[in-house]
Amino acid sequence: MASMKVRVYVTLSVEPANRHSDAMRSSASSRTDDKASVSVFTAKGDSRTLVAEFTVPKARQMDVVDRIVQEFEDFVPDAIDFSASFPRSEADERKAKRASERAKAKRAAAREARKDPAYRCFICGKRTKLVKTECCGRWICDDEHKYQLFSYARNSCHRNHRRFTLCAYHYDNGHKGDWKTCPKCRDDFKDELEMFVWYGTNEYNWEKLPDPPAYMPTTCAKCGKVIRLSDGGYSHGKDGYLCGSCMPNPFA
Ligand SMILES: [Zn+2]
Ligand SMILES: [Zn+2]
Ligand SMILES: [Zn+2]
Ligand SMILES: [Zn+2]
Repeated sequence: MASMKVRVYVTLSVEPANRHSDAMRSSASSRTDDKASVSVFTAKGDSRTLVAEFTVPKARQMDVVDRIVQEFEDFVPDAIDFSASFPRSEADERKAKRASERAKAKRAAAREARKDPAYRCFICGKRTKLVKTECCGRWICDDEHKYQLFSYARNSCHRNHRRFTLCAYHYDNGHKGDWKTCPKCRDDFKDELEMFVWYGTNEYNWEKLPDPPAYMPTTCAKCGKVIRLSDGGYSHGKDGYLCGSCMPNPFA
């Protein structure tokens, strides 16, 4: 059973004598299930206040607090004031200290990172709440939470780099070497050269594909209009690509 420390403070109208500390000790002993935990001492800086420290079972703390104090009121002579406190255990104290040290170290690290001129999202330039990309280790907004599922919005820097660049594609697929010269990446997109070029050169990159290959623009199979695959608003089916005006209306 977990136990917690309690301190009962009793202020006397006279200087404390043995009969007072004896009464403190026996009141404390009747309220604890661990008599070895009982100690009685004089409060620091107040010679007329005696302190009894002991442990009580944790779960009972709340309902026994009145009864604990009552016991001292009934048995300690010359008492004029009572109070109780539940100091943190040393283990809790240590835990709280470690947590606050960790938080402090984290704040210091963030402060330090902000001094670095490179601490800046390479997409939008923001200088707060950044993380490093897994693929290329660059600072970027820690903002995936901003993306609403199925919204297809492009408001998250982190998601844009992760979803729309060869850098992330290359990393996610475990390719070796530099994405800019990766034959596997190139091969995976051999039928979608336009997307390959877009993934390699769009604004979600911090370094771009140096010599993007030329590609034939995609055109609408019906009207011949050029379709920019990266912009959306087209359909792709057995007849090939159809532009926004020619694609079948699912609501028709
Ligand atoms: Zn950003
Ligand atoms: Zn990257
Ligand atoms: Zn690759
Ligand atoms: Zn068309």
